[in-house]
Amino acid sequence: MKINKILVANRGEIAIRVMRSAREMGIKTVAVYSEADQTAAHVAFADEAVLLGPAASAQSYLVIDKIIEACKITGADAIHPGYGFLSENAVFAERVKKEGLIFIGPSPESIKVMGDKLASKQAVKDFNVPLVPGMDEPISDVIKAQKIANDIGYPVMIKASAGGGGKGMRIVDDPKDFEEQMKRAVSEAKNSFGDDAVFVEKFIQNPKHIEVQVLGDQHGNVIYLFERECSIQRRNQKVVEEAPSAVLTPELRKKYGEAAVNVAKSCNYFGAGTVEFIAGKDLDFYFLEMNTRLQVEHPVTEQISGVDLVKEQIKIAEGKALEIKQEDLKIHGHAIEVRVYAEDPENKFLPDTGTLHKYVRPQGAGVRVDDGYEEGMEIPIYYDPMIAKLITHGKDRTEAIERMKRAIDEYQIEGIKTTLPFCRFVMDHPEFRDGSFTTKFVEQHFTPEVLKQELTDELKEIAGIFAFELSQESKHSLTTNQSKSAKSGWKKRIVR
Ligand code: ADP
Ligand code: ADP
Ligand code: MG
Repeated sequence: MKINKILVANRGEIAIRVMRSAREMGIKTVAVYSEADQTAAHVAFADEAVLLGPAASAQSYLVIDKIIEACKITGADAIHPGYGFLSENAVFAERVKKEGLIFIGPSPESIKVMGDKLASKQAVKDFNVPLVPGMDEPISDVIKAQKIANDIGYPVMIKASAGGGGKGMRIVDDPKDFEEQMKRAVSEAKNSFGDDAVFVEKFIQNPKHIEVQVLGDQHGNVIYLFERECSIQRRNQKVVEEAPSAVLTPELRKKYGEAAVNVAKSCNYFGAGTVEFIAGKDLDFYFLEMNTRLQVEHPVTEQISGVDLVKEQIKIAEGKALEIKQEDLKIHGHAIEVRVYAEDPENKFLPDTGTLHKYVRPQGAGVRVDDGYEEGMEIPIYYDPMIAKLITHGKDRTEAIERMKRAIDEYQIEGIKTTLPFCRFVMDHPEFRDGSFTTKFVEQHFTPEVLKQELTDELKEIAGIFAFELSQESKHSLTTNQSKSAKSGWKKRIVR
């Protein structure tokens, strides 16, 4: 069925990202927004916009009735949920279907199975997919859980089955801490996800996070669009992602890809989805979870595959068969994404809200910025603190990295602290350069002092340039002006 008008049940960069593809397909767009987002960029971008309610997402972006009503008012015939909010809510997907609207995503059944980490483990068990050693059932009895943890061997991880966004996980190194950590995990799971089911699995030491993008249509065809490596994380949440991984061989890539396709087949998956794996020392891999939605870091896959994932999602939702065949897909160069969060890397990556007094995006060859803000806007405290995603694409990994460094230096953000200085640090780190980095990267290599150190080095360099330029001024005045202004963006961004 042809889609004519899409309501995007989300905000910020992802709402605009989805609307862009819709517009290219000649499809009209509807934004929804809260009172805190009256002047938001996604509202201005859309053809029409509907106010949902107060700032708190529980009274706006998460209210199913209001979103359905907004569809009725505007005559939208399909809903794209983006990521976060209602994107992995099976009740919502079911309701959309019942109302005779198209949900741009998988079936409610697939969401239900994969949205629950335990149910997903059970589903993939018979599909030749390696699992992290541990349980596939919830546990509430502490004594029994302790026994299982002993059998698995420490360190272990206690996880909320309904967890997401890096929340609801606890590492236990020492058996004597198990009881207390389990109690905390249960109450946290209940408070954060409204579901107290927890389970125990082996904590894989020094792992890599490698995930595979899949696309499936409603006719049983499933393909994989290679992997993304997302091991640079803070608080178990990604900050830097890249495609392809610097370490996978073509043979391993095929193995990961085929395992991901099996995961998708285990729940009759259609739409775009991501199968996340955790990889140990020799890149042996275990299934972590499947995200039944568009992923934050999907642009790096788009850059290397040339496939617009949102357009594919829309065509699949219309019932069309996939036109892309597995053997047609090729990797073109290398892409890196850094997440620009309104957070202070010098202060434990805590959120830093405020106004974007200055906001100048980097430009030029191989640079893509997906964002949802303009200069002068405020970053609201109510939602995820991500301002933008900066993506670079190059003919190889080195070019993508050098381009990222150049783009970060060009990015001018004033008024709010961001993760950019941290990402700049990552780009030059020997472990990132040689590809051996793991999810422990931040813990092992990052302290606020390294940013201060970089700053001192750079100031010395600038002082050196000025000293040199002073002596050369009469000869090369044009060069002097150029190098001064080239440096100034960086200097202002760091010295706040
Ligand atoms: P991705 O999984 O796409 O790589 P994140 O883990 O950062 O990225 O999740 C994307 C967004 O979705 C974030 O805003 C995060 O807070 C939110 N999110 C993901 N899963 C859940 C969940 N189970 N409950 C609440 N929010 C979630
Ligand atoms: P979420 O739904 O919050 O994204 P995941 O299960 O995908 O939860 O895990 C998020 C991150 O936590 C992983 O990328 C990894 O860094 C870490 N992690 C999760 N499970 C394990 C494990 N068993 N061993 C080591 N690290 C893990
Ligand atoms: Mg995950």
